[in-house]
Amino acid sequence: MKSVNPATGDVIATYEKTTDQELQAIAEQADKAQQKWRNRSFDARAACLREMARLLESNKEKYAELMAREMGKPLAQGQSESEKCAWVCEYYADHAADFLEDDIIVSDAEKSYVTYNPLGTVLAVMPWNFPFWQLFRFAAPALMAGNAAILKHASNVTGCALAIEELMHESGIPRELFRTVVAGREQVQDLIQNEHIAAVTLTGSTRAGKAVASTAGGALKKSVLELGGSDPYLILANADVEKAAETCVTSRLINSGQSCIAAKRFIVVEKHYKPFLEAVTELMKGKHFGDPFEEGIDLGPMAREDLRDELHQQVQHSIEAGAQCVLGGNVPARPGAFYPPTILTEVGPGMPAYEEELFGPVAAVIRAGDEQEAIRIANDTSYGLGAAVFSKDVNRAEKIAARELEAGCCFVNAFVKSDPRLPFGGIKQSGFGRELSHFGIKEFVNVKTVYRA
Ligand code: NDP
Repeated sequence: MKSVNPATGDVIATYEKTTDQELQAIAEQADKAQQKWRNRSFDARAACLREMARLLESNKEKYAELMAREMGKPLAQGQSESEKCAWVCEYYADHAADFLEDDIIVSDAEKSYVTYNPLGTVLAVMPWNFPFWQLFRFAAPALMAGNAAILKHASNVTGCALAIEELMHESGIPRELFRTVVAGREQVQDLIQNEHIAAVTLTGSTRAGKAVASTAGGALKKSVLELGGSDPYLILANADVEKAAETCVTSRLINSGQSCIAAKRFIVVEKHYKPFLEAVTELMKGKHFGDPFEEGIDLGPMAREDLRDELHQQVQHSIEAGAQCVLGGNVPARPGAFYPPTILTEVGPGMPAYEEELFGPVAAVIRAGDEQEAIRIANDTSYGLGAAVFSKDVNRAEKIAARELEAGCCFVNAFVKSDPRLPFGGIKQSGFGRELSHFGIKEFVNVKTVYRA
């Protein structure tokens, strides 16, 4: 397995794959380690998570450099990611015991209640876009609930995956309880079916989610899927256009546009279409892309050249189908996986920019006659991860968010973001299950009914 610096195309490191025999031993040992871990007190587990948080804070520069080298994230954003991981560790260290306290339920029994037992060893198949955050938001609750975990990270961020394993062990997590494996896709399929694996979680594309979920389904194992999105941002008649444009651009360009919950389709009512487009164009024009180690950079390269080429093709095909490119849209003549901030207008059904996830700094601006049409277009997608509504009539906007939009996370006058206190996840082709909050920690537990006559 190779790690390639996407800003230069240079190979940074090569790694040996974990063999099938090693994978078998790792799964067996995790199972044994989990039997002990499940009997440790919440306080003992929380002590490891608090130490993880401390290490994530104190090593944030080091981890940010690793992310910048392996997948091109600008340094400041990598440091923020490490800080957010520390937050989720602290959060579950503080709250897991309360979330998993027995629930007494009055019935015909002398005593009846629900108790939450851990499931066992969970396989985590993770993507490269937030190489630390995606893992910690799963691992912090899963470990606090008493599970073991095996991490199979995306093949371009093996350095991050091994750094996470080292951090876990340094924080006091038993060596066998959390392991990173350097595995290919076929090995993942075998692991899911391994008798020592109880469940699987995947964050990544819908394609990868379907492959993993069908194997998990065939083996009758629980799965949680956090997949892609094509989040609509609705700019309604009462919106503050300047503020909405700023928020939309910030969200579209987070992580160089490679976020599942980035704003992807800007749906603007006729009245605001022109001023909104002008404001967005001005803001996106002012963003600088370059080497993630340079100061003052807004966007790094994309994570891999093949991903950049795929995005460029989606842009090209949208243009061929009638979209207009009003900014960017060209592959820069320099080494590395760079792509400029790009805006497509006149985007409509049948075009990749309308139908598919654009995983890079490309905004699709769509015109809507009125509010009802904006809502219809917003829901006219196979995805259902996040959505946002912009209007000074906050009650109406909230009603649209709460009742009319088909997505797992709907925000009003703000961009969609994850927060340890709030559940996170999607519907439709964006997956199922929830991470974070008390919902997240209950995904990998046996919700057990106890009845005493
Ligand atoms: P993938 O979704 O293919 O990869 C995510 C993870 O799943 C990786 O660990 C990958 O391993 C693994 N994986 C992929 N296919 C399988 C399979 N059949 N069986 C088992 N494991 C599998 O992401 P890509 O890097 O290929 O990106 C492609 C597109 O996916 C992006 O352009 C973007 O649209 C979307 N994506 C969305 C993300 C999100 O958060 N919504 C995150 C990442 C990607 P390996 O790396 O070894 O292939």
